Amino acid sequence: MLAAQLHADGVSAALAGLGGRLHDTVHLPLPADTAPERLLAAVAEAGAGLARASRRRILGFALALPNPVTEPDGTALAALHFDWPPGAPVAELFAAQVARADLGPRARGALPTAVANDANLAALAEHRHGAGRDARHLLLVTSGHRGVGGALVVDGRLHTGSSGLALEVGHLTVDPLGRPCACGNRGCLNAETDPEALFAAAKHRPDPGRPLLPQARELARDPAAADAVEHVVDRLGLGLAGLVNILNPDRIVLSGLHLDLLAAAPDRLAAVVAERCLWGRSGRVPIVPAQVAHAGLVGAAELAWEPCLDDPQAAMAP
Ligand SMILES: [Zn+2]
Repeated sequence: MLAAQLHADGVSAALAGLGGRLHDTVHLPLPADTAPERLLAAVAEAGAGLARASRRRILGFALALPNPVTEPDGTALAALHFDWPPGAPVAELFAAQVARADLGPRARGALPTAVANDANLAALAEHRHGAGRDARHLLLVTSGHRGVGGALVVDGRLHTGSSGLALEVGHLTVDPLGRPCACGNRGCLNAETDPEALFAAAKHRPDPGRPLLPQARELARDPAAADAVEHVVDRLGLGLAGLVNILNPDRIVLSGLHLDLLAAAPDRLAAVVAERCLWGRSGRVPIVPAQVAHAGLVGAAELAWEPCLDDPQAAMAP
């Protein structure tokens, strides 16, 4: 299989086997032109290059995107990182670009393709291969380069709502007077607990020459930034408590910057969640760090495998 992930600052692609294993992986910067067709052509070519070099027959190709993706039509909403127009038909465009790509001498016919939100795919990866194994109601919350994503896996299946847009947890209000959010409101979890929020709380400016997330992860582990970490942890706790009261998960997995916030102040985070959960037991839900490296890619690989595992004979037909 081929799996790919679009990030705010680059493209990753990997050859993937069964069991969450990634083989050859490439990470490339974003092309100068991030219009949907151009960017998806770059993703298709990154995967096709791996396929040609491996000389393996590829059976499917799936892509993780850092924005909501509607179901079943596969349009991208609020793709703010790339300045895409609202409702870009990303599933259709990706399929067209993969169909044009040269997948090597063993390619046969049209390759099945799929696209989905990266937080959803990371949750799937954690449930099958990481910190979410055996959880029945697994809630994943993560902050990557900007904003906050969430996902819920119930009995092994993603809960994506009526049109793919469930668990957009980033717009939970955790401070009515807080920082402005891209949605037009103030104090959303997005704007209060992402890397920019941590830098603002610490009154530090990130180095513009380096990606934001690794700098924020370093800051979260810096004892000199303890007050800022506590400020952001308290807001993350408020958001998690709201989600726990609504969803009653049996495990919460945190990833991205939230993993580092958990590492820096685990007792404080658990205490804020417990204090805001009135039902006693629901507030004692285990909050654990994510375990899967490149979880978005691993989740995309799981998505790519689905049609093949559902009907192996059709997938392997010459
Ligand atoms: Zn918002």
